[in-house]
Formats: sequence, C-alpha cells, structure tokens
Amino acid sequence: MHGARTTLGRRAWMRVYRITSLLTAIAVIMSIIVTNVIMETFSQGINIQGLMVSIVMPILLGGPSIALFTFRNEQLRVANEQLQTLATYDWMTSCLNRGAFTHKVTRILETTTLSAALLVVDVDHFKSINDNHGHDRGDDALRLIAGTLRETMGDRALVGRLGGEEFGIFLTSISPADLARIAERLRAAVARLAFVTDGVGCPLSISIGGTIVRGKSDFRALYRLADMQLYEAKAAGRDRVSLIEAA
Ligand code: GH3
Ligand code: MG
Ligand code: MG
Repeated sequence: MHGARTTLGRRAWMRVYRITSLLTAIAVIMSIIVTNVIMETFSQGINIQGLMVSIVMPILLGGPSIALFTFRNEQLRVANEQLQTLATYDWMTSCLNRGAFTHKVTRILETTTLSAALLVVDVDHFKSINDNHGHDRGDDALRLIAGTLRETMGDRALVGRLGGEEFGIFLTSISPADLARIAERLRAAVARLAFVTDGVGCPLSISIGGTIVRGKSDFRALYRLADMQLYEAKAAGRDRVSLIEAA
C-alpha cells in the first residue's frame, strides 16, 4: 500500500488542519520572540515593520511545509492502521485470522488464572453448497455464518476463522454449564438462518466441538481436545454440540 494513495477521511483532515495551525502558531510566536531579541540587541527594540515580518514570514515559509509534513504523517498513520487491520482480520469474513486468533488466545492463556474455553465450529456438508450452487454462493454462506457467530457472541469472545469453513471461539471466565448454553445458542442461530440461493432455501448447519480448562494450558492442547469433540459431533450426525472438560 503506497502512502501517497492513502485517502484521508474527514477526521484525519481535521487533525491535519489542527496540527498545522498549532505548529504554525508556535512558529509565529518563536519568530516574534527571536525578532524582538535581535532588534532589542541591534536597535531600539521591535517596531511595526519588524513585527509584521516576524508574523508573515513563518506563515508564508513554514505554513506550507508544516501542512505537507502533517498531511504525509497522517497518511502514514492511516496506512499503518489499514495494514494492521489486514494483518489481523480475515478479509472475507471479518473474523480474526488464524494467526491473530491463536496469538491472542496464547497470550491470554499465558496470563489468565480464570477458566478458559475453546469451541471449534465447522460448517456441515459445506462442500455440497459449493458443488450445487458455486463457490461464490459458498462464500456468501460463509460470511452469513461468520456474522451470525460474531453477533451471537458479541464482545463476550474472540471469534477467528481457523481456515476454510472452520471457526474458533475463545472465552474466559465461564462455567461448563454456560459454555454448553452458548454453544447450543450458536448452533441454533445458524440452523435458523434463511439462506436462499438460486431461488430456493438452502439449510445451513454447524457442528461444534469444545473444551473448557481451569489452570494452565496452551492453544495446541485446547485445540486438540476441541477438535476431537468436533469429530464426535460430526460422527453423531452433525448439527450438534459435543463438549469435554479438560483434566
Ligand atoms: P463436513 O460436514 O464433514 O464438515 O463436510 P464438508 O463438506 O463441510 O467438509 P469438507 O472438508 O469435505 O469440505 C470443506 C469445503 O470447504 C471444501 C472447500 O472447497 C470448501 N472451502 C474452504 N474454504 C472455502 C472458502 O473460502 N470459500 C468457499 N466457497 N469454499 C471453501
Ligand atoms: Mg465442514
Ligand atoms: Mg472443515
């Protein structure tokens, strides 16, 4: 992403305007002080011509370069924010990408003394949606499901796309009973979705495997347990939840 191509929004332009005004005002004040000292030293002090020059010169000479500097600086800041977003979120579903999700979960697990839970969510028979309706409609279904998972969880959890049609949901400070309730709410929310493609309703469902741990753990250990439960949920017929408490 080239800095020069980064367009600024209204708030960024306001910041450019504010910073430029502030720095130019500081330059004018410094100029008046320096002119005063020089004219005190070499003549009878500052006169009206000296005052005018000390005000106009920094505005004419410094103003444009300060404006350009703050504009470029703001472009860099905005570009940095955009890069940070691209590096953190999955572009298609807007969930955390796998790298950001595992990194955040790992950091939390290293420090927390609270209970922690991982749900692994996999879309059922997703390949048949692609096969029957095309890859683009498959993408639409994925976006719809991802949005439903995020809406259902709100700020309560981290939601990441682990790859393909598999998502991870991570929560802390939760009881096994609450985890079961939340997982069931997610399953039911996706099962209720009305996904219409080619004029016909296309039912969607997910299977969820999950685990909950108290005390030290790491992402790999949690994922292995949750993934085994996902396998159980698939084997038991899909569109269901299977959870286990880690020892
Ligand atoms: P199961 O119930 O056992 O999970 O069956 P499934 O069909 O969902 O499982 P499978 O792993 O066989 O198929 C997953 C499919 O997801 C295969 C792959 O083409 C598709 N897929 C992965 N990523 C994307 C994507 O970003 N967009 C679309 N449209 N399809 C994807
Ligand atoms: Mg699947
Ligand atoms: Mg899968």
